[in-house]
Amino acid sequence: MKKWILAIALLATNAMAYEVHQENAATGVYIIDGDIPLLHPSQKFDFIQSNEDKLIVDTVDGVYDIWNKFDRMNLTYCVSDEFGKNKAATVAAFKQATKDWMEAANVRFEYVASEDDNCTTSNNNVMFNVAPAFGERYLARAFFPNYPREYRDVLVNDDSYEYNAKALAGFIRHELGHVLGFRHEHISKDSERVCDEDENFKPLTKYDSASVMHYPQCGGTGNIMNLAITEFDKEGAQVVYPF
Ligand SMILES: [Zn+2]
Repeated sequence: MKKWILAIALLATNAMAYEVHQENAATGVYIIDGDIPLLHPSQKFDFIQSNEDKLIVDTVDGVYDIWNKFDRMNLTYCVSDEFGKNKAATVAAFKQATKDWMEAANVRFEYVASEDDNCTTSNNNVMFNVAPAFGERYLARAFFPNYPREYRDVLVNDDSYEYNAKALAGFIRHELGHVLGFRHEHISKDSERVCDEDENFKPLTKYDSASVMHYPQCGGTGNIMNLAITEFDKEGAQVVYPF
């Protein structure tokens, strides 16, 4: 098992620089690698390859950053009423994306609509909340399993709705990959290194350029209009969430 440290960086709609920036949202967290919130501005990440060449899993102190066997079957979420006219599209995108991950790995997401009118990071009746964002540099962003409840929100930026329903579901599939503990595939050494970051990067064997966790603009072969869970993604996901 190979392990390495990196300071990651950016799912920005256009900017590709690896840099930390503070999001506009009230949470005001710092974001690196486009869509990954930091618990504090100097946070560093570890990650580990789940299984040879399939997916890349976040780690904390050398341990997989994944949901325990109870919580993984209880990934409840609400979708904020504040989405307004975009709410139906958001609910639909999450319905599709959660279904796809539940078929790919032994996890269970559940939409709790009764919490939509109080769908904030203060709501402890759900595992995480989904809320709108405006004018951010990302299409959407999420969190990792080890994050405390106050950081467990998925924010979907307004410009995501300029894409069609299929593309939006793909963005959410990518973000839910982070929710499950998966890191960006384009940090692989074997990628074209378009979105490289620091010198602590250690080699991988192979990588999956079509992974749902790969930014297409970082040398990926996935389709930004339909980011899909690949067979390698499924195999990697089942290493940590086996049926
Ligand atoms: Zn991402």
